[in-house]
Amino acid sequence: MDRLQIQKVALRQRALFIDDAFSVNDFGECAADFCAEMLKLGYVPDENLLRALNGVNAEQLAEIYSVVKEGLNLNSNWTPLVKDWLKPTGESRIDHLITAFVNSVSTLKDKLHGVRLPCGHLIPEGTFPIERYNGCPFCGTPFEFSDKIYKGQGSKHKLLTLWTLTDVNKYFHNLLNSPVAMDATQRDSLNILLHNLPLPSDVQIVVKETVAMVVDVLLEQGKPDLAAEYFTSPNDILRYLWYKKTLQIQIIKPSILIDNAKKSTSWYCGMPVAEKQEKENCAAAEKRKELKLHYSRSMCRIVARWINDLKMSAEVAAEIMHPKRGMWVRFIRALRLNEFAKQKGFENLRKLLDIFYRGDYKVWQGEVDKLLLKNDIDGALRLLQQRPGSFARQLFSVIIRNANAENVIDSFAQIAPQIAPRLLVTLGMYAESYFDNSKIRTVKVITGKSKNIENPFNLQYFADEDIKCIIASIQKVYADVTFQRFKNTPTNAKTIYIDPQLFDIPLSIGERSANIQDTDCALLGTKFDLQGDKIRLFMHWGKGLPAQHLDMDLSARIVYQTGEPQECCYYELTLPGAQHSGDIRQIPDQIGTAEFVELDIPVLRQQNAKYVVFTCNAYSDGNLSPNLAVGWMDSKNPMKVSDETGAAYDPSCVIHQVRISSSTLSKGLVFGVLDVQTSKITWLEMPFEGQMARNLDLKTLEGYLQKLSARTKIGELLRMKANAQNLQIVDNKDISDEVYDYNWALDTAKVSALLL
Ligand SMILES: [Zn+2]
Repeated sequence: MDRLQIQKVALRQRALFIDDAFSVNDFGECAADFCAEMLKLGYVPDENLLRALNGVNAEQLAEIYSVVKEGLNLNSNWTPLVKDWLKPTGESRIDHLITAFVNSVSTLKDKLHGVRLPCGHLIPEGTFPIERYNGCPFCGTPFEFSDKIYKGQGSKHKLLTLWTLTDVNKYFHNLLNSPVAMDATQRDSLNILLHNLPLPSDVQIVVKETVAMVVDVLLEQGKPDLAAEYFTSPNDILRYLWYKKTLQIQIIKPSILIDNAKKSTSWYCGMPVAEKQEKENCAAAEKRKELKLHYSRSMCRIVARWINDLKMSAEVAAEIMHPKRGMWVRFIRALRLNEFAKQKGFENLRKLLDIFYRGDYKVWQGEVDKLLLKNDIDGALRLLQQRPGSFARQLFSVIIRNANAENVIDSFAQIAPQIAPRLLVTLGMYAESYFDNSKIRTVKVITGKSKNIENPFNLQYFADEDIKCIIASIQKVYADVTFQRFKNTPTNAKTIYIDPQLFDIPLSIGERSANIQDTDCALLGTKFDLQGDKIRLFMHWGKGLPAQHLDMDLSARIVYQTGEPQECCYYELTLPGAQHSGDIRQIPDQIGTAEFVELDIPVLRQQNAKYVVFTCNAYSDGNLSPNLAVGWMDSKNPMKVSDETGAAYDPSCVIHQVRISSSTLSKGLVFGVLDVQTSKITWLEMPFEGQMARNLDLKTLEGYLQKLSARTKIGELLRMKANAQNLQIVDNKDISDEVYDYNWALDTAKVSALLL
């Protein structure tokens, strides 16, 4: 067991892992130093942890500290391009033009006065105030580095608790048992735990994505037979194989991945169209090559055995394979399944392939569609009732296609208790935004990006009254079934405490974070109150990478009550109420680099700003750089900026940060929205296409925010539970039988368990 790795998982849950912890009351010197240091980083241990820390030796404390340092990026370069960057340098477009001209004419370059920089550029006198920069203002290459950071300016402390091996195992169980798909942090944590602890036998894995991860580890350990027990359908096997190939936990078709690679290339000012097309074609060709399937003979045999041993009739299996037919054909060829099918002992595989190729199976969905087309609604409903999950997924569209909505909802209500609770919650949450004509309709496509779509055509034929009725009936089905479900769950409790904060946090269903939170988990959609009147955004990237051109941009887009939105970004460093620390385009070797944006709330208010959108983008080719970290700092105390280096990072002021995961498919990401009037920051993750902040469609963002606020809050679900189980809601958690506070909610697996 690698203790450092487990420590990483614990820290994400706001805990420190101390193996065989024993509690000591004497406050030792080592522990005192450690706690003082942690306090400077913004962490306070609770009493249990404090006692346990006293029993830990200096070596182990140093080990724990190293994980915290890693999570907070303390061993990196935090120097931005401009020293003391809160004061604008006054650089202008003219400075860039003159410098470009001078450097392009070799005779001029040798004669003119100015400063010659290590990158080869001559900065002519009278242009950029070069003494203000840590690098070249013209090409964005930094030359001066430092890991200087500030400590202890934060005003909001994070409480740390103790994790023993029992707690770690409990968390491991929760993740494996989770009834809803995990977010990126949970997946990463699960991966760490799978590699460091024995797989418990008493778990029931229901989420397909979890199966793929568990199988991967079992295969690494040389246990393909054990892995086979987790597969229930051929698509589970396909999902695993594709995950192994693409790192994508969902099955994304090759054509979509190739198209995404094309769109992730960059366009530079003045680039001819032909060159852009050429670049796109190259990116597509490379992706295509990367997605080619190659398997060793032994792997082919393992997969053939898995499919052969599925406990499912060949007809049913073939139907399940049908929607992914194109992919299956490629896999069957690459895995040489036809060869294996001829061998003795692979009779089931032979039968399945035979049926699959001849198309000798009924496709249930095809039958449903046929009946709907013929307007045989009763027939279609009878079929739909046979598969409650599928019925739920197409409920909205069947209602829209049909004049008699009441009839559809009635037959749905009959089978609703058989539907997975998480699916039912989703229907209840989205009914309003789906049927309301006035709402902006955003959907999330499989690569994670949001798109605006047209209202369903038939929606215009429904009267407003009918729409209201439809929404109310769907929500009633959800409410009734959930109420009944809670009611049927026995409890001995009489009282319940629900943290008021939980009424602001949406259930993490359908919408989950795709990036990793190393230091402090928060739930997507969480609203943070402002601490002070200045917010500092930060972005750090390129750590562990060799020096190269890698241009990532941090921007703040300001939307006003009236008038055009403006961006504080690489080409507009200074706006009233917003200041950028300078555009870095080349990363130094291994130590990474940083950009900041400072927002001044009172000035933004004076400017009639409505909200500010925090974004980061990849200006260079490709997607956002993996391991790029973005977040924001906020404190009641003033936050310093060094006039010598411009360093401005203080981990104790970090309110929230995320790290881009290696499976990202996006070029741009919105990571927060500040509501200037209500002084709240909503943490969200909305990937978007394009290399600049202004490529973000504000309509899509508004649609996304509407959807986020329409989602069922954790507190609402708990209140429903209290009503159903006749629990009295109390304000004091110390006297309550059941306690649901913010820390409880951070373990999303526990929250999801409410929906079991
Ligand atoms: Zn330069």
